[in-house]
Amino acid sequence: MNPVLKITNLSVRYQSSPVLWKINVDITRGKIIGVIGPNGSGKSTLLKACLNLVPRITGDVRFFGNKSFEETRKQIAYLPQRESIDWDFPVRVLDVVLMGAYSRLGLFRNPGATEKTFAMECLDRVGLKDFSKRHISELSGGQQQRVFLARALMTKAELYFLDEPFSAVDVVTESMILSVLKQLRDDGKTLLISHHDLNSVRESTDEVILINKEILSFGATSEVMSNLNLQKAYGKSFT
Ligand code: ADP
Ligand code: MG
Repeated sequence: MNPVLKITNLSVRYQSSPVLWKINVDITRGKIIGVIGPNGSGKSTLLKACLNLVPRITGDVRFFGNKSFEETRKQIAYLPQRESIDWDFPVRVLDVVLMGAYSRLGLFRNPGATEKTFAMECLDRVGLKDFSKRHISELSGGQQQRVFLARALMTKAELYFLDEPFSAVDVVTESMILSVLKQLRDDGKTLLISHHDLNSVRESTDEVILINKEILSFGATSEVMSNLNLQKAYGKSFT
């Protein structure tokens, strides 16, 4: 089967030294892939590099069987890391979700009744349909994460890049987000999810990419999450 995402020999640097080095990964359809590693190990950079948001030193990223990002961007959704979003930006919940339709509609076509109805359905799936008129700054951290998840659902994408979707959420919200993500996976979508909480990785992913600038291990979650691998990545004992 053609990989949904094929990363070949990808290296990235911001200043002098590389933060990602010779990354090679093939991802097949219909899986939840965790991206884990210590703080500063390059998780966010890996997601951004796939989406052409940071410059590469070398490397190639292809989508859906050898297509470029530009050719396939309408099938790709991105949920940025919480810290990189301006939560004071004056916008209502429904408008944030509707932004997810722009990649399909184009910026200059206003969303109509169909899109608004679908946006409300997306909000309903994340338990927020009664919050559509609120300003995003008036929500809790977990509710804000769910608004951005609804925006990702709005894109109707095939491939999802989610940067720490479980940060700032309580356990109830975490399990709700997780069931939405698993439903997408069961519908044949593919999800790359960066995590900093190792505990939730085991139950929430099918495969794991363990990185610390380079790939330390990639494969089935139970195999990658061995004490030895985690020790290699985090430099402390996990027994
Ligand atoms: P993670 O998401 O795993 O915490 P990041 O991908 O955010 O790691 O960062 C990887 C490395 O790149 C870190 O050393 C970080 O300080 C550095 N870095 C990230 N973004 C930038 C940037 N915009 N400019 C310069 N250095 C950056
Ligand atoms: Mg990060």
